[in-house]
Amino acid sequence: MTVEPESVASQAGLHRGDRLLAINAQSLRDVIDVRVCASEPELAFLIERDGQRMTVTAQRHYGQSLGLDFQASLFDGPMRVCRNHCEFCFVDQMPSDLRASLYVKDDDYRCSFLHGNYITLTNLTGADWDRIADQHLSPLYVSVHATHPETRIALMKNPRAGDIMAQLQRLVAMGIQIHTQVVLVPGRNDGPQLDRTMSDLAALYPNVLTLTVVPVGLTRWRNPDLRPYTDREIAAVLTQVLTWQAQFRATLGVGFVYPADEMYLRAGEPVPEVEAYDGRLDAMVENGVGMVRRFVDTWGTLKARLADLAVARQVWVTGTLFAPVLRAHARVFEAETGVRIDVVDVPNRTFGETVTVAGLLTVEDILAALQDAALRDALDSASGLIVPAEVFRGPGGVALDDQPASVIREVTGCRVYVAALDAQGWDLRAVG
Ligand code: SF4
Repeated sequence: MTVEPESVASQAGLHRGDRLLAINAQSLRDVIDVRVCASEPELAFLIERDGQRMTVTAQRHYGQSLGLDFQASLFDGPMRVCRNHCEFCFVDQMPSDLRASLYVKDDDYRCSFLHGNYITLTNLTGADWDRIADQHLSPLYVSVHATHPETRIALMKNPRAGDIMAQLQRLVAMGIQIHTQVVLVPGRNDGPQLDRTMSDLAALYPNVLTLTVVPVGLTRWRNPDLRPYTDREIAAVLTQVLTWQAQFRATLGVGFVYPADEMYLRAGEPVPEVEAYDGRLDAMVENGVGMVRRFVDTWGTLKARLADLAVARQVWVTGTLFAPVLRAHARVFEAETGVRIDVVDVPNRTFGETVTVAGLLTVEDILAALQDAALRDALDSASGLIVPAEVFRGPGGVALDDQPASVIREVTGCRVYVAALDAQGWDLRAVG
């Protein structure tokens, strides 16, 4: 546990490394309990320090933050895992030599509330439902995939998966808001099934706030019964979804259903303006919806950071899906600044070339793509190599193959910068 200086917790005498056991005699299962218990004005913290238990007290004014941060969100054991056997499960399509945490099939409603993870509702107990209602855990993020019971049961290979509409209605009755998603699998839950799902979920608006539609991600270890969509099929699905979106905009006042960026890019269509996301971009962007729009709209701040690097040649790497967008911006930047830029589309050798997003690239994938002879003369100590932060989301900033960005610097010998977008705009962190 860490304690912010000058915070309520710090003034009460809590220290970094203390173990927080209870607040106002309520034991704590997770960060949600901490938030709920800490909403009182008078606080008594039961802590363990150097093997000794002690109680310290504090007063908290309305709106004041407690100032505590925890290494893990859950204190009472590992996260809840799913009981489904989805035929399209990405975890089952991974090579066997990645780090153990990537194979955890997270389906924990507490992580949905805290971190926006999608859950299926198929493993909830009566006590979980009571807790969602009592602590008003809203919004939650739910993977629906199909509202037709038999279709959902078949997709998720779980006989308990068919009650989704009743479960969503139960959440609605509790006043819980819900973001939903459909992972679209060719021939399984598209066509008329998708029509039904969009219509059923929109009937629960405004409690069901959004529905994102994402084409299934398939690796080279996929179930051989499954295939990816062709670009032509993607274009047809995009038209289908946008037709419903236009109807919802006329009847509900919002688009309600939002296609993944991948669908626009593969269909060769421009991504919509930010207004088309109805102010819900923050809830959807992690799911691949609106990332391109956000990039385009923040390009001005990234351009300024890139110009500040003061290198005559830059190499930008990204996944093959986004590379054309990046390349178009690179050409403008080159014309404006005279800086020479190479945009490198990195094929995903780890998962297979049907996986096209930057967030699933490894350091090995990037180094392999940089082997190109034409690039080798670009990579020296005077050049800057820009890599997206999505690659390095593992513990301590490592990629999926557990390698940090510094490995790229050591191998290439050029300056490496990790590009990250946050609320303040773009940051280019130099890799030491
Ligand atoms: S619910 Fe998610 S983690 Fe579980 S099997 Fe389905 S896709 Fe995999």
